Amino acid sequence: MDQIKIGKFIAECRKKSGLTQMELSEKLNITDRAVSKWENGKAMPDSSIMLELCSILGITVNELLSGEVIEMKDYDKTAEENLIRLKKEKEESDKVLLNLEIWVGLATVLLFLTMVFIASYCDLSNNMRLLIMIPSFIFFFIICFLLLRIEQKAGYYECQKCHHKYVPSYSSICWAMHMGRTRYMKCPECGKRSWQKKVISKD
Ligand SMILES: [Zn+2]
Repeated sequence: MDQIKIGKFIAECRKKSGLTQMELSEKLNITDRAVSKWENGKAMPDSSIMLELCSILGITVNELLSGEVIEMKDYDKTAEENLIRLKKEKEESDKVLLNLEIWVGLATVLLFLTMVFIASYCDLSNNMRLLIMIPSFIFFFIICFLLLRIEQKAGYYECQKCHHKYVPSYSSICWAMHMGRTRYMKCPECGKRSWQKKVISKD
């Protein structure tokens, strides 16, 4: 995706609609900084608000992703290309995130165990022990929270009964029994429980 081109296109369409960045952001319930980031090509609009953004700007999602108005005769071809590209990019970034999760997870566990070891076995005052343990616990839980977020959002979980692929809620990820990344969860499609595997692609 050419984010710079898309950003310029968003700015152009916004001005044509007679909206300021602030007015557009208010319509979408986001900050004007987010709009400015898109227009400078530093970020892409989240897929959750893309439809609404396009309807405000009077363009199609396909045009937004191409960064230009598309002639009707080329429409289907570019639509397909854009969807494929978007999907590939999501899969790539999900893979990176899931790898990151493993390494950050390992590093955090190691660091945490080191801190526990130091607090338990080194010759320290009790205050000093607390001073080591409390921040270590807080740090550990914050990282766990963030890593579980990655696990929830990156890729999909696949039901082993009906093979439905979906993104589970954060709480169902948190409370599910798990072995590695495979989690015992209830499928929203067939309602059966099974050990669900993480998959990157939806098809
Ligand atoms: Zn199912």
